[in-house]
Order: sequence, then structure tokens, then C-alpha cells
Amino acid sequence: MGTSREHAIVVGGSLAGLLAARVLSDHFDRVTLVERDRLPDSAAHRPGVPQGRHLHVLWSRGMEIAERLFPGLEEELGAAGAPVLGIPSDLLWMTPQGWRRRFEVNRLMTFSRELLDFSVRARLAKIDNVRVLDGQEVTGLIASTGGGVGGVEARERGTTGDGEPLRGDLVVDATGRGTRAPEWLGRLGFPEPKQTLIDPMLAYASRRYAIPSGFDPGWKALYLQADPPNTRTGALFPQEGGRWIVSLFGTAGDYPPTDDEGFLSFAKSLRSPHLYEAIKDAEPLTPISGYRRTANHRRHYEKMPRLPEGFVALGDSMCALNPLYGQGMSVAALSALTLDDGIRNGTAPTALAGKMAKNAAGAWLVATGEDMRYPTTKGASAGISTRVINRYVARVVKVANLDQHVCMRMVNVLALIAPPQSLFMPDVLWRSATVRARPLDGPGERLN
Ligand SMILES: Cc1cc2nc3c(=O)[nH]c(=O)nc-3n(C[C@H](O)[C@H](O)[C@H](O)COP(=O)(O)OP(=O)(O)OC[C@H]3O[C@@H](n4cnc5c(N)ncnc54)[C@H](O)[C@@H]3O)c2cc1C
Repeated sequence: MGTSREHAIVVGGSLAGLLAARVLSDHFDRVTLVERDRLPDSAAHRPGVPQGRHLHVLWSRGMEIAERLFPGLEEELGAAGAPVLGIPSDLLWMTPQGWRRRFEVNRLMTFSRELLDFSVRARLAKIDNVRVLDGQEVTGLIASTGGGVGGVEARERGTTGDGEPLRGDLVVDATGRGTRAPEWLGRLGFPEPKQTLIDPMLAYASRRYAIPSGFDPGWKALYLQADPPNTRTGALFPQEGGRWIVSLFGTAGDYPPTDDEGFLSFAKSLRSPHLYEAIKDAEPLTPISGYRRTANHRRHYEKMPRLPEGFVALGDSMCALNPLYGQGMSVAALSALTLDDGIRNGTAPTALAGKMAKNAAGAWLVATGEDMRYPTTKGASAGISTRVINRYVARVVKVANLDQHVCMRMVNVLALIAPPQSLFMPDVLWRSATVRARPLDGPGERLN
């Protein structure tokens, strides 16, 4: 990183950009966040975050970081009606290895993506040295006098022609999985980063429903996972406003339909009837939305021979994940902390890119490892070591279904509290080898 701390520019005003801007406000005199969309002044959907119509779970590590950066955020979300779930005590969770016992090993607050982004945006707007330039599209980078990146070119969205230069000492690319930063760097004479694309051909279809009045079956949420070669997963989670979000997921090209009949029939075909039974007579509040841009996509800035001073990529623009495991926002939150640390310590660009890549490595392993259970996944196939690891993880899942300690270890990996390697610690190895793992007949009662 360069030494001047006058002006930082963040490109992209979704979660990764918002958290990055918050962190930069501690280090720079001024921070400008440039966002292509006009940002709504309420918890409303916007085109730049099309995934917002689908289930978004912020695991506890991500929530903890967001709360640290914006103290009181959690309370504010709760006051807006976001429910809290015991995991998996309030969740009927059918894993690939059968039903999971309902003890509590973690807690999750569940809210719409619109509410989360709006709450964070509103908090950011209160920081004096942060300016939000919305409705402005970045079209390229500009060079600094020292041969690094010295700002961006931006123009009003919907106009054509060259953008106006906006100079800054640091540019953070948070423009998501569709980022054009590699091309922008290329135009300044830097090599483009190598990319890895692993595509499980997964699609979402989602709809919100009113929670039927008096509905109280003893659970609050459902997560019914596919057991490969089965390709169909479904989830139902409560959100603020007394509604459910229901997302159906189909892997290996088995895309869930977006018409009423097809949606219900896909729900009916899941491995348990619970989700279909819950929604078949419930009142839909929205049309059904589909989404297919879900491939795992890494851009390896950490491997570039020459990365310019004054440029950092984070969030989905650096590592976009198959969203089925709900880890993207937590990786974005971890990246914000890494950025904070990197600036504090004057970390060099390539070393910082390495730390960013490391943040995402565990989530990448989880997502791509699971995706490789399907031979149809494009871009990678399971070699012998992946097959052995996947077999061991299947055993751990089976034991986690019955054993609270192993379940906690497993959920800690999903929640980014611990790395996937922690599943190979002696306690997990021992219990996985010794616990008798007879599958449960059903989800059972809440245990604590
Ligand atoms: C279907 C789906 C479900 C998901 N579910 C979960 C989940 O349950 N849990 C979880 O943690 N994560 C989930 N994710 C991932 C999560 O949405 C992202 O990780 C999160 O939004 C952080 O992404 P980001 O901020 O890096 O990029 P994005 O959210 O993609 O935002 C990029 C922003 O940049 C702006 N932008 C783009 N180009 C320009 C430009 N040239 N100039 C200015 N602005 C620009 C866009 O308008 C947008 O606001 C899901 C993703 C998908 C696709």
C-alpha cells in the first residue's frame, strides 16, 4: 500500500464495499464509495444486487464482524423484526446423511438482504468522512504518477463516453462476481490475474410467503439438503415482517422452475415433504424469481507477478462462491478486517492479496469440495484425495447429526469460525470413528 492517506475510493456499494468503506474511514481523510445503482432510502430491492431476492444467511462470524464495525447493528435488525434462530434447534435440517438432532450449537439472525444492506448503508452514511456517490458507474482505473493505481474514471449511469477522473490513493474493487477490474488493470499495462471457475450448474428459484397465522409446528426454519446424486435442495427461513423466504436449489442443471405449478412440484419432490406441506396453502407475497449465476469463481491476484500499489480487490470480485453454503457475506466481512489490518501494517499489495485469498480459502474448499460430489460440475473433478476427504466428511456429517460436539465443530466451519482442517482434529476424528451413527427416523423435538 502507498503511504498517502488522503482519499480512498471504494467501487461497489453492496456488502463488501460498505464494510470496506467503514474500515477505510478510520485510515483515510476521505472515503468515496461509488455505486452504479441509485441507492434506495429504504430496505428495497435494487438491480445491482439481484441475489437479494433469494435466501441470504449471515453466519455468526460475519454478523460478529458487522456488529464490531457498526455497534448496535444486531439490535437494530432485531428491532426491525429479524428473528433469531437456534441452530439447529429451531431448524429441521435434513443433511445428505439424514435428519440432524435439534440441539443448539449456534445462533443466527435471519433477515432479508434488503434490510441488512439498508441498515448498514444508513449507518455508513452517518460517518462524516464517507461520501456515497450513487448512480455513478466506474468505467476504468487511472494510473498514479508512481506507476500504480491512482483513481478511477466514473460517469453517470446511462450516459456514454469517457468517465470523469476521480483521483485517490487507494482503489478497492468491490464490484462483485461480474467485476471488470482485471480488464481495467490490463488497460494500465498490468497482467490480468489467473482465474479459476468451478461451476456446479446450480440455480435458485425463490418466493416470499406470509407465515400463516397461528403456524406453530415447533420449528422456525427448514433446510432439506440433496444427497448426491440427488440434485434438489430446499430451504425455508423466517424474515422480518412475519414472512418466509423459500428458496429451491437445483444442481447439475436440474433448475427449479419459476412458475407456480412447477415451483410447488419441485418443492414436493424434495427428500422430505415438510417444505411442500408448509407452503402449499400459504399466501405468496412475491412472484417467483430465478437465479443462475452461481459458479465458484476466483481471481488470483495473489499470484500476479506484479500487482500495482493502490489497488485491492475483495468480496465476490476476488472470490465468488457457490452460494448454497451461505458464506459470501462472511468472507466479505473477514476481508474488511484484513484490509484494516493491511493498512495499519503497511502490507504490500501482493501480500495483502495473499491474505485476502487466505480468508476465502476455507469457504472455497467447503463449496467446491461439495460441488465435486457431482460429476457434472464443470472446471474440476474429484481426484482421489477429494474423494477420500469427501467420504470422511460424509462420515463426520453422519456423526454430527447425533453428536452435539461434532455438530458444533461442523457448524463452526460453515460459520467461518474455524477452518475446514479443524474437522481433522483428534476430538472429531475420535468421535467420528467411535460414535454409532444410526440415522434418525425423523427430525425429533427441540432439545435445548
Ligand atoms: C443467489 C445467491 C444467494 C446468496 N446467498 C448468500 C447467503 O445466504 N449468505 C452469504 O453470506 N452470501 C450469500 N451470497 C453471496 C453474497 O450475495 C455476496 O457474497 C455479497 O453480496 C457480497 O458481495 P459483493 O459486495 O462483493 O458484491 P455484490 O453483492 O455483487 O455487489 C457488487 C456491487 O457493485 C456494484 N457495481 C458493479 N459494477 C460497478 C461499476 N462498474 N461501478 C460502480 N458500481 C458497480 C453493483 O451495483 C453492486 O452494488 C449469495 C449470492 C447469490 C448469488
